Amino acid sequence: MFKFKAFKKLRFPNVFILLLIVFFSCALLICINFFTIKTLSANRAYINGESHYSKGQKDASRHLITYLYTQDPNQWKLYLEELKVPQGDGTARMTLLKVGDNEVARKALLVGRNHPEDLDDLVWLFVNFKKVSFLAKAIHEWEQGDKLIFKLFIIGQQIDAKIKHKILTVTDQQNFLHEISVISDKLTINERNFSNTLGEGTRKIKDLLVFTNVLFTLIIVCSVCLYYSIMVKRLIVSKKEIEVKNENLVLVNHELDRFVYSASHDLRSPITSLKGLIEITQSEENVCQIREYLKLMYTSLARQDQFISDIIDYSKNKRKQIIMEPVSLRELFDEAIAQLMHFENANQIAITKELLVDEIESDSLRLKIIISNLLSNAIKYADNSKQEMIISIKTYIVDGLNKIEISDNGIGIKDEFKEHIFEMYFGTNKNKGSGLGLYIVKEAVENIRGNIYMSSENNIGSKFIVTIPSANGI
Ligand code: ADP
Repeated sequence: MFKFKAFKKLRFPNVFILLLIVFFSCALLICINFFTIKTLSANRAYINGESHYSKGQKDASRHLITYLYTQDPNQWKLYLEELKVPQGDGTARMTLLKVGDNEVARKALLVGRNHPEDLDDLVWLFVNFKKVSFLAKAIHEWEQGDKLIFKLFIIGQQIDAKIKHKILTVTDQQNFLHEISVISDKLTINERNFSNTLGEGTRKIKDLLVFTNVLFTLIIVCSVCLYYSIMVKRLIVSKKEIEVKNENLVLVNHELDRFVYSASHDLRSPITSLKGLIEITQSEENVCQIREYLKLMYTSLARQDQFISDIIDYSKNKRKQIIMEPVSLRELFDEAIAQLMHFENANQIAITKELLVDEIESDSLRLKIIISNLLSNAIKYADNSKQEMIISIKTYIVDGLNKIEISDNGIGIKDEFKEHIFEMYFGTNKNKGSGLGLYIVKEAVENIRGNIYMSSENNIGSKFIVTIPSANGI
């Protein structure tokens, strides 16, 4: 029979969440790497700019000192030329602080001998990170340096004025030289601090970059592994489900083959016997004998009718969906009894009903099939040798479950047949039935996830008890 290896629906985490995690981690990783590289590149540009700043300041100091002692106008020009480098950077710093990114700041950075391709990164870092600790510190050092550059400029003006008015004395020369070297020393410290601060920031950014790269790579790898294992598990489960479905299909096919074979045989046999009866009736003169033949013809047709109705039940039971609805057991029994009254001996049987349960929630089609088949068997297999033929119908509740009980004092079932009575086409008397009745009953009971229990004693009687689960048990 069919395997009901119910695979419990395994609860897998939603794989879309994992895919989203991978997607966002990748996007975040790309963004973090992009901005980190941009920041590092800007840092490099600032350190590069600082070296131009420092070189410009040192060359300017050198030319100023030479001018101080040689009074060569060419040295004065060179001094002014070199001083423009730190002055340009200073202008850029002040403009960026006051108004942000503009042409003036960019031109001033070019004067500071920064590379044109570095301008975007320099401006971007300044505008967006000027308040971040490492850059704020560097800007502060830069500001201190600019103040010293301004002082150097003033000293230059004083030297030039004294030289032009020819009032420069040896003492002045010594004083100016001292002042220039003090400024130079201070600037060297500022410039070193500036580079160190940026270097420190760069190292921190690098550490952060390594950490985030490792973290996100781990997240991506774990998510992909989890995704892979979930998909493999799903594949295994669906493979098993397909295997069970295949096994069921083979069984169904086998059953169908048997069904077609037996159905064609059983459908033909009443026709064959009818044909034979008609033939002998044609040559029969005796009216009593003809009546006898007609009776046999009727029985043959009734058998075929019963068989066709069994096939219809079988097909309905297989195809139709379970529909849970309120059903009256009393009505179902009354209907079934009314339809079975034309059976031989039916009106001689005492049918008693004790219905403690009437309205229930179940599938009316399956209940109809179950009730009418059990009742028709009780009538068909009644024992007319007994003084009183009895069928007793009961409905009741045990442990919260509805039960239907149909018992009779009919011919009973021999022990050797008991284990076969629910098999397809098993019947002990082919004149009485197709052998499909109890097979269909068993399938209908399985459909509503109920149970059927049979007890019988040969020559004493039989009892069938059907347990109907509650509606929410289906
Ligand atoms: P059938 O069409 O032959 O009645 P069923 O599947 O309904 O086929 O029943 C299978 C066999 O079980 C019957 O042939 C009969 O021998 C036995 N049987 C079923 N119900 C009863 C009953 N109430 N009393 C005695 N025998 C029964």
